[in-house]
Amino acid sequence: MSTGGTNGELRNPGAGRAPSSGGPPVVDCRGVFKSYRLAEHEVQALRGVDLTIQDPGFYAIMGASGSGKSTLMHLLAALDQPEQGTVAVSGHALQDLSERDLTLFRRNNIGIVFQQFNLIPTLTAVENVELPGMLAGERAGKLRARARELLDALGVGARAGHRPDALSGGEQQRVAICRALLFAPPVLLADEPTGNLDSKSSEVLWSLLGDLAKQHTMTIVMVTHEPAAAAHCRRTFILQDGRVKGALETEGLDASGVATRYQHLVAAP
Ligand code: ADP
Ligand code: MG
Repeated sequence: MSTGGTNGELRNPGAGRAPSSGGPPVVDCRGVFKSYRLAEHEVQALRGVDLTIQDPGFYAIMGASGSGKSTLMHLLAALDQPEQGTVAVSGHALQDLSERDLTLFRRNNIGIVFQQFNLIPTLTAVENVELPGMLAGERAGKLRARARELLDALGVGARAGHRPDALSGGEQQRVAICRALLFAPPVLLADEPTGNLDSKSSEVLWSLLGDLAKQHTMTIVMVTHEPAAAAHCRRTFILQDGRVKGALETEGLDASGVATRYQHLVAAP
């Protein structure tokens, strides 16, 4: 499928925003620790994560199950706070923001997409996309126009009036991405977004995310365990036991090239 539908149709969320070269990094984590307490147990999910993304683009995070990927995404989304260390997104040091500012920060700066599409089954595709705007008290007419524009740009405009159960998994995830893009955030976080999709729909989605990042000067950070997904990204950060073990320059590699380098890095002492 062509993902060229994003071409020029989507208002550019990066317009007027220079690429961050020379400015603050888009993402900057320093010495980040996070643990969970379960009864007497303590699980150290993150043990000193250092991760910097200087410029907009499409990036991946890979790592074994339990290595802390989702925990890190929650911290980047300002849904949770580290016990130690600092997290800054788009130049905002999250620990310095009040609760009220965090809410605004999340709305304007971060879109998030999960493995589960989390669409409301009783709402149509376009209503699902509009929902965060409705909750924020935005004008219905303006929201409808923006939601339709997004659905068209992501190739699901013809499905706008359908409820989620009438859509394929790939279409549902595209609707969920449209919802995440409603406020034109400069950063989109995607935690295993193709975990429920077949390989063909997955490929379509990765290409689409790559196109979005390029055409709209966005930063997309995607958690994945699939080398074929990371092959769409310019750099892939490898998490191991709650730390960043290293990064692979994945631009231009194919899936097997990523897999080989990944195994090599993970096995290194
Ligand atoms: P990943 O996404 O890489 O699979 P997670 O960030 O989900 O890893 O989890 C990292 C570690 O923290 C795991 O050992 C997991 O069991 C634990 N963990 C994650 N979330 C919670 C939670 N809410 N309560 C307790 N432990 C958790
Ligand atoms: Mg996870």
